[in-house]
Amino acid sequence: MFDAAAVKRDFPILNQGGAPPLTFLDSAASSQKPQAVIDALVNYYTTINSNVHRGVYKLAVAADHAYDGTREHVARFINATSPDEIVFTRGTTEAINLVAATWGRTNLREGDLVVSTVMEHHSCFVPWQMIALEVGARIEAVRITESGELDQDHYRELLSQNPKVVAFTQVSNVLGTINPVKEMTAQAHAAGAVVCIDAAQSVPHMAVDVQDLDVDFLAFSAHKMLGPMGIGVLYGKRSVLESMPPYQGGGSMIRKVTLEKTTWADIPSRFEAGTPSVGDVVGLGAAIDYLQDLGYADIARHEHELAAAAIIRLSAIPGVTVYGPPADVARAGVVSFVVDGVHPHDVAALLDERGVAVRAGHHCAQPLMKALGVTATTRASFYVYNTIDDVDRLIEGVEYAQRVFA
Ligand code: PMP
Repeated sequence: MFDAAAVKRDFPILNQGGAPPLTFLDSAASSQKPQAVIDALVNYYTTINSNVHRGVYKLAVAADHAYDGTREHVARFINATSPDEIVFTRGTTEAINLVAATWGRTNLREGDLVVSTVMEHHSCFVPWQMIALEVGARIEAVRITESGELDQDHYRELLSQNPKVVAFTQVSNVLGTINPVKEMTAQAHAAGAVVCIDAAQSVPHMAVDVQDLDVDFLAFSAHKMLGPMGIGVLYGKRSVLESMPPYQGGGSMIRKVTLEKTTWADIPSRFEAGTPSVGDVVGLGAAIDYLQDLGYADIARHEHELAAAAIIRLSAIPGVTVYGPPADVARAGVVSFVVDGVHPHDVAALLDERGVAVRAGHHCAQPLMKALGVTATTRASFYVYNTIDDVDRLIEGVEYAQRVFA
């Protein structure tokens, strides 16, 4: 049995006491950090802090080992064929912007088609929209079905128009839908497209194998998977990364610079201009260790149990509408809902009075809000440290909000 209460004890921020105690249900925005990750950061800064890839002294060599060692760790974690396929970025947003600005600007031409979906977080849509606008390409978004899944007929119809790139999320940050990335990628490749996956909401919660999925690019953020803020990963297939020009110019990304011309470093350094956030990379490594110790199969089962309980109990409250796939299908632990007659922000504020932290708003997914016919939802998201008591607090809080507005 997954012991979430024991897991919770590893997270100092969740054990600060106070009244009412904190019920943290906003991990889809950013997760909390276990002591092991905090210790890894403190240990890095107290024992080996130094710039990387420059110094010959012992501290610098230790920092090099920590940084490049974590690159190897990340490569094994998502089953990349080589650490060279792992680029450290500030997060998912920067990773997708990197792909759109380098691969996109090199390969997209006027009249080309970019396929995305209506369920994207803005960070997997806006960078592609920007580059499409710049080069005169078209961008089309796959519709969703009533139950919040991608409309696969519409997807196939768009693939028949031979897009150059298909960019979509593995897990919706609003609906909790898990998209069939492997099947959709195979279809996109058959249509001649490159595939870029937003894995910000999948890698924290499920095992992701980039070779099995066969995606060309995949992006995720450390801060949603128990790691530090400001660090993330872009995975790119070696052949695709090697074909791409740099994203930013500066230190570390060059092979040779003369006043006339600069040549580029090999991958992945070509895409890591400037001093990287070495301590945060080390923290990401500790977060991966922590998640792997817990085990992804148990994590997914636990989160599904909590989400299913929340969906069933919220749906049973008159006047509450829950969005996304039903409780009994494979889905992520993200539950979005609307309470009739109470604005989602008021629901969130009233929950906060009782110590329950949830998110309210458009969740950086305005096209999805439009498709759902709402301006905002309230969202509860579950992670490894949540327990069934947290679902009780959520339900009690929603009923309280209804009473306040009755
Ligand atoms: N994609 C999805 C699905 C997300 O949920 C988020 C974070 N809310 C992002 C991308 C962006 O991640 P970051 O802000 O860490 O770059």
